[in-house]
Amino acid sequence: MTSAPSTAWTILKVLRWSCSYLEARGVSEPRPSAEVLLAHCLGGSRLDLYLHYDQPLGENELSCYKKLLKRRLAHEPTQYITGRQEFWSLDFLVTPAVLIPRPETELLVEVAAAYLQGQRAEETSVRLIDVGTGSGVLAVVLAKEHPQAQVTALDQSWEALCLARQNARRHGVEERIRFIMGDLLAALRPEAQFDLIVSNAPYVPTAEWLRLPSDIKDYEPRLALDGGGDGLDVIRRLVQAAPGYLKAGGLLALEVGQGQSAAVEQLLAHGGAFTPAEIRRDFQYIPRVVS
Ligand code: GLN
Repeated sequence: MTSAPSTAWTILKVLRWSCSYLEARGVSEPRPSAEVLLAHCLGGSRLDLYLHYDQPLGENELSCYKKLLKRRLAHEPTQYITGRQEFWSLDFLVTPAVLIPRPETELLVEVAAAYLQGQRAEETSVRLIDVGTGSGVLAVVLAKEHPQAQVTALDQSWEALCLARQNARRHGVEERIRFIMGDLLAALRPEAQFDLIVSNAPYVPTAEWLRLPSDIKDYEPRLALDGGGDGLDVIRRLVQAAPGYLKAGGLLALEVGQGQSAAVEQLLAHGGAFTPAEIRRDFQYIPRVVS
């Protein structure tokens, strides 16, 4: 990297060089990584890179890019390096205190939104909880899309709640969300008062978590991923607690991992408090949301 001359390096040349550099060193998604980081240093979008591909980089821009590349070489996720991740076409702040929002979680928004849409005709106000809100993506998107919803966002991490609040402020819904620290639902009084509970709780079995690539395992919070032996420790507790907080006809919508939907369906059936579950598949056709 140090041998790279600082002048005459155009955007395209730098991109080509850094892509093969990252790829040769086993960094995943070398091209998107290089593009996102370079765009971040230049203060523009990824598309801008290609619109100005023959523009030479300045000294400061090159040195910024080298610093960020170095972090990516250590497998740090690009989202933590730039502090940003898009979700539901909105820009969210992310830090290592929270899980990086995944695209498949948008399915949980869809399921929740469809339910809220149905409620809209009947009630002036619906109340929903996002358990383990993390960066707050679910709470913020649902609050934004459904102005009649009163949202409660729970997390056991204070840092996560602070970040979720920041994200809510950036998207103009801070006033509409209560942020509460606690383990699952324990901080709330068990009164059947909510219409909807959504959660992207940790569900990765511990043995699988141990085998995750460094990008995830060494950087993202274990608390948000590791769901214990079969991955369902947290979901099991949530399924047990949820009926105490839901109104009759309320909905519990959970994101689950590959191969877990049948087990979660059984958990829901077992308690006797829920009607038969509905399962939705994500864009990879993996059963992803159980409600
Ligand atoms: N989808 C995440 C992953 O595969 C896991 C999220 C979770 O445990 N809730 O890394």
